Amino acid sequence: MNAIEDLARLIKKLPGMGEKSALRLSYHLLKTDPSFNKALGERIMSIQEKIHPCPICGSYTEEDICEYCTSPKRDRSQLMVVEESQDTVTINQAGIYNGLFHVLGGAINPLNGIGPDKLRIKELIERIEEGNFKEVIIATNPTEEGDTTAIYIKRLLEGKDISVTRLASGLPIGGDLGYADKTTLMRSLKSRIKI
Ligand SMILES: [Zn+2]
Repeated sequence: MNAIEDLARLIKKLPGMGEKSALRLSYHLLKTDPSFNKALGERIMSIQEKIHPCPICGSYTEEDICEYCTSPKRDRSQLMVVEESQDTVTINQAGIYNGLFHVLGGAINPLNGIGPDKLRIKELIERIEEGNFKEVIIATNPTEEGDTTAIYIKRLLEGKDISVTRLASGLPIGGDLGYADKTTLMRSLKSRIKI
């Protein structure tokens, strides 16, 4: 195996990369300005040192505690539960929600060995017990795993004095929240249903 095939083999492991596109990208990097490759390599090396999950909500931040959790302008009576940190960015950029977030780090998926203990569900329940939330909005992806996770969380919250809702219609079934457009997100938030 030569160096370019070796690089392509690594790039292929990235999401959305096929064999051909990985090879094309490798040749592109070979021809590009060396300073770009150096900068890219350095950014890749340092990203995990600079960015870490917020100890409260789990979204990625460069601060000790993220800006959602520290902002005095956010509504502390609403808590939206999402699968991934990127989902908070999508929803925040859409400007449709101003409450707090909780990132699970995925969804329950027994076939892939992801049980509730692998997600930040224990932390979620602790947060709800300690906080003053009036509503928990479950915004897991509209997939089987997302639904399973929503039902699991709802069961854990039974008997507690808190409204549990789930993002409603509009989101494509089997889709990913991160790819939903603003109008769709707004509609599904507005018509969220009690579960
Ligand atoms: Zn946070």
